[in-house]
Amino acid sequence: MTALTPAEAWAQLEAGNKRFVDGRAEHPHQDAARRAELEGSQAPFATVFNCSDSRVSSETLFDLGLGDAFVVRNAGQVISESALGTIEYAVALLHTPVLVVMSHQNCGAIRAAIDSSTPDADRLPPHIADVIAPIMPAVQRAVGAAGAQVDAAPIDAAQIDATEVAREHVQGTIGELLRRSEIVAQAVADGELAIVGCHYRLSDGAVTSHVVIGEV
Ligand SMILES: [Zn+2]
Repeated sequence: MTALTPAEAWAQLEAGNKRFVDGRAEHPHQDAARRAELEGSQAPFATVFNCSDSRVSSETLFDLGLGDAFVVRNAGQVISESALGTIEYAVALLHTPVLVVMSHQNCGAIRAAIDSSTPDADRLPPHIADVIAPIMPAVQRAVGAAGAQVDAAPIDAAQIDATEVAREHVQGTIGELLRRSEIVAQAVADGELAIVGCHYRLSDGAVTSHVVIGEV
């Protein structure tokens, strides 16, 4: 396991993202020597849970290489049994000191959740609807936060701020992780894990944090 504390691990991710934003990426740990070093074991210092979107590759935007991050991805980074189990594996067996839950600008899953929240929305194909469903509470919270009369008038999808929904969704996802995973909650309580909720901007490459659970 890595010797880094949660704060040190998060600092490394922040530093890597800064290099990426500034166009100074070092592309570390991507050579044959690193590959050979990792053949028998891995000790990643971060777990990242983010969207499958092709523009949001965690290793690239945090300037990482082989063996650095244990990455869990699905459309819209929604909690599922598979995602929970994969994250628990990283926390319980690999002891990664930081878990990043990251949304991003112009997310298709967030967009689909917003668009399907209106009364006249087209029905989504069933498996896609399953992926979108966990994002719907975040849409409702974002509408509520904006002061809209949810019950009084139909929701106007164009009026819903997608960035706000993304942030609400990250916050809700972290809350659900802590509620449903004893392993994750215990690691945080023991000071062995910090969780950082973030949003990634496609426009400039910056990752900004808005939720921190634990010490970073
Ligand atoms: Zn996305």
